[in-house]
Amino acid sequence: MTRVYNFSAGPAVLPLPVLERVREELTDWHGCGMSVMELSHRGRQFTAIAESAEASLRELLAIPGGYRVLFLQGGATTQFAAAPMNLTAPGDRVDYVVTGSWTKKAIAEARRYCDAVAAADSAGSGYTTIPSIAEWDTDPAAKYLYYTANETIGGVEFQEVPESGEVPLVCDMSSTILSRPLDVSRFGLIFAGAQKNIGPAGLTLVIVREDLLGRARPETPSMLDYAPLADKGSMLNTPPTFAWYVAGLVFDWIAGEGGLAAMGERNRRKKDKLYSFIDASGFYANPVDPTCRSWMNVPFTLADPQLDARFLAEAGEAGLQTLKGHRSVGGMRASIYNAMPEEGVDALIGFMADFEQRNG
Ligand SMILES: *Cc1c(COP(=O)(O)O)cnc(C)c1O
Repeated sequence: MTRVYNFSAGPAVLPLPVLERVREELTDWHGCGMSVMELSHRGRQFTAIAESAEASLRELLAIPGGYRVLFLQGGATTQFAAAPMNLTAPGDRVDYVVTGSWTKKAIAEARRYCDAVAAADSAGSGYTTIPSIAEWDTDPAAKYLYYTANETIGGVEFQEVPESGEVPLVCDMSSTILSRPLDVSRFGLIFAGAQKNIGPAGLTLVIVREDLLGRARPETPSMLDYAPLADKGSMLNTPPTFAWYVAGLVFDWIAGEGGLAAMGERNRRKKDKLYSFIDASGFYANPVDPTCRSWMNVPFTLADPQLDARFLAEAGEAGLQTLKGHRSVGGMRASIYNAMPEEGVDALIGFMADFEQRNG
C-alpha cells in the first residue's frame, strides 16, 4: 500500500491510524456483528458511539457547561442560513468582518434574512489582510458579530479571537477548529464542516451557547432550529452516523497525540517552516500579510506561472498531491491540517527546493 501526502483543502487527509481502525472495525463493530453503517442510530451501540464522540470533543476543546454540541448535516454552508434564522428577526442588524470568499458567501446568505452589514472588509488588499479591529464599524446593538476564523481559499487566519463585548460572536471554524487550543467561552456559536479537520464530509459540527437556543424565527425548518436539534440530541432524523463515528475516532486520535496543545505546537512548526522557506526563496511567494497567515492553508505562487503545470505534475509523481490552488486565486495551495504529518511538510519543502534549483 502506498499513501501519498494529500494537501487537499477538503475533503482532506485523515489520520492513518483512524483509517486503519475503521478498516479493522468496518464489518463487525466491537463484536456486534454489524458495521457502524448498519447500526440503528437509536440503538444502544450507536448511542454509545455518539455520546463518546461528544464527550471526547468536550474534553479536547474544554467546552464549558452551558454549551450544546450538535452533530448535523448540510455542511458549513447550511449554517450560513441557520445562524441568521436562529439568531435574528427580519430587519435585525448583524455585523460581518469580511476577509475572503467564505465570509462573502456567508454574508450574502444572511442578507436573505436580515440586515447583514460588512462592518469591515479587506477587499482593498485583495483579502490578504485582516482589517484592524479599531477600524471595524460594528453596532453594539447587532444581534451577532460574525467572522471566518480561517479563510481556506485565501489563506488568511485570525490569530486571536476578536473582542465582541456583549454581542454574541458567531464563527465559521471549518478549516481551523481543533488546530490548537480554543477558548470556547468567547463564542455564542461556532460551526464547522467536518471534512477539513474533523472527519469525513457529510457531518457538520455546531457548538452553541444555551441562552441562544429557542429564538429561531417561526418559519425556521426544525432541521435548522438549534433548540429542537439540541433537545433531541441531534436526532430529529437519522444523523450521519458513520461520519459521526469517524469524527469520534479522530477526536481520540488527537487526544492520543497530546491534545490540542501538542497539536498546536506541531501545527506551528509545520506552518513556520513552510512560510520561512517560501519567504527565503526568490522563486516562491505567499501574498498574505505575515500577521494573518493561515496555519492550515498555505497558498503560494511560482515566479513563472508557466511552470505551474510542470510543478503539479512532478509533485504528483513525487507523492505530493492536490497542491493546485483554488480556481479563484490560481497558483498552489498546501493544506496542512492536523492529519498532515510534519514529514509531509518536510517532503514538500524538499521538493520545492529541488524544483526551484532545476527551474529557477
Ligand atoms: C469548506 C468551507 C466551507 C464550506 O463547507 P461545506 O461543508 O462544504 O458547506 C465554509 N467555510 C469554510 C471556512 C470552509 O473552509
